[in-house]
Amino acid sequence: MKKIGLIGGMSWESSQVYYKIINEKVREKLGGFHSSKCILESVDFAEIEKLQYRNDWTGLNKIMSESAKNLENAKADIIILCTNTMHLCSDEIIKNINIPFLHIAEATGEKIVEKGIDKVLLLGTKFTMEKEFFKNTLYNNFGIEVIIPNKDDRETIHKVIYEELVHGKLLHQSKEKFSKIINDSIKIGAAGVILGCTEIPLLIQNKDVDIPVFDTTRIHAESAVEFALN
Ligand code: GLU
Repeated sequence: MKKIGLIGGMSWESSQVYYKIINEKVREKLGGFHSSKCILESVDFAEIEKLQYRNDWTGLNKIMSESAKNLENAKADIIILCTNTMHLCSDEIIKNINIPFLHIAEATGEKIVEKGIDKVLLLGTKFTMEKEFFKNTLYNNFGIEVIIPNKDDRETIHKVIYEELVHGKLLHQSKEKFSKIINDSIKIGAAGVILGCTEIPLLIQNKDVDIPVFDTTRIHAESAVEFALN
């Protein structure tokens, strides 16, 4: 079994879900007493959030690349970055390491194609919804068209992520807002929704909405296990 290196803490509310899914998947595949060989480099999210707020991507690139290098030095065989937003740093990370980096949008694109879906709604932080890194990966590598919510809804989603979900607050009214945004997107052609923030699956699951849900936390964690066991 290969050793999975996780860059986590963004937030730890979702990093713990990664750890759980990875171990459950290894148990499901290998049975018995088996569990995952993995190593976690967990950052202080306060430092990250401050740099994000200032749009200091040079500073963020540095922290992410160093974290990845630490995992490589600790003998990880693959790196996964347990947040969608921080994949904005993926080019710098890849430059800095000599082991594979499993991109969250790549793993998600594969699952969407498997379902035969070619137009999806993307929910995430404003960075993920508004910048090109996630959308381009899906369009250029898989031909998947991505739509994003309108400006007000993007504000709402971003606020819920940073003021509630990363603090472990799961509020019923926020769940209702997210469900409405997702179900409304069906009218403009969305055939699926990407929960493109690793905390959104804490709030929304398949049963809450009328279109297939692509949970990036689960997809990413399970893809890492596929790699580790093959
Ligand atoms: N975990 C989140 C994501 O998947 C947001 C927190 C962060 O900015 O990293 O984008």
